[in-house]
Amino acid sequence: MAITEKLNNTTKPTFWEDRIPVNYVYTYGLAGERFFRAIKDKGTFLATYCPHCEISFVPPKAYCDHCFAKLDRYVDVGTVGFVETFTISYENMDGSRKKEPTVLAMVRIDGTDGGLIHYITGIEVEDIAIGMPVEAIFKPKSKRVGSIEDIVGFGPIRNSKRRKK
Ligand SMILES: [Zn+2]
Repeated sequence: MAITEKLNNTTKPTFWEDRIPVNYVYTYGLAGERFFRAIKDKGTFLATYCPHCEISFVPPKAYCDHCFAKLDRYVDVGTVGFVETFTISYENMDGSRKKEPTVLAMVRIDGTDGGLIHYITGIEVEDIAIGMPVEAIFKPKSKRVGSIEDIVGFGPIRNSKRRKK
């Protein structure tokens, strides 16, 4: 694989299509490992808590963003939060039109700092709004592997109570 043509005009972009094999191993890190294990085993979210700043981080961080303290206190913060912001996608990756639009949102879990980017599901697109309460929907436990894809998305709150901040 190489560019076989001579480049005479350097202001005109050229390209070739091919595939580049890329192998990698992604590691979650210490806090991420506990976060995804809680999703897999318990269907809940863990946060790390900074006692100095009184902030809980989801996803959990090993160090506090504000005071740089090492964080090793993990707390179960449940699965309920609210839509911090969202976007509606009408096109596929190749530019073709989707049959149904998909909604990606940043969801902030109640009482925490940070957020999770995931799909909104089970709510009509025109009804989605910033600040709307939502709850995580997980795959059945037998299908979970410890990944962000163990979450199907966030949907309307079923029967759990929202935590206060
Ligand atoms: Zn702190």
